[in-house]
Amino acid sequence: MGIFSFFKKDKVEEDIAESHEESHIEINSDNCQACQRCVSVCPNNSFLIVDGKSSLKEDYICRDCKVCIAACPNECINFVNFKI
Ligand code: SF4
Ligand code: SF4
Repeated sequence: MGIFSFFKKDKVEEDIAESHEESHIEINSDNCQACQRCVSVCPNNSFLIVDGKSSLKEDYICRDCKVCIAACPNECINFVNFKI
């Protein structure tokens, strides 16, 4: 293994770090009926009901499990991936 192999390895690791995908949840509250299923199922306790609509807590943490999406009967919750 030559010295350039180390540089190449560093470059690959940099590229992986730079293409890291971050995800977040969006709620279309128009169809939300405040059934609280998303509140109940989220393992991170990220949802709360405000003024009769589901909302995400300001500092919510998402593990990308998508359980909330499956639980919502009105398809209010969407998952958004974006590269940072
Ligand atoms: S995807 Fe999972 S962790 Fe993220 S908000 Fe929904 S239930 Fe919570
Ligand atoms: S599961 Fe859907 S309809 Fe029920 S509170 Fe959550 S976003 Fe609203």
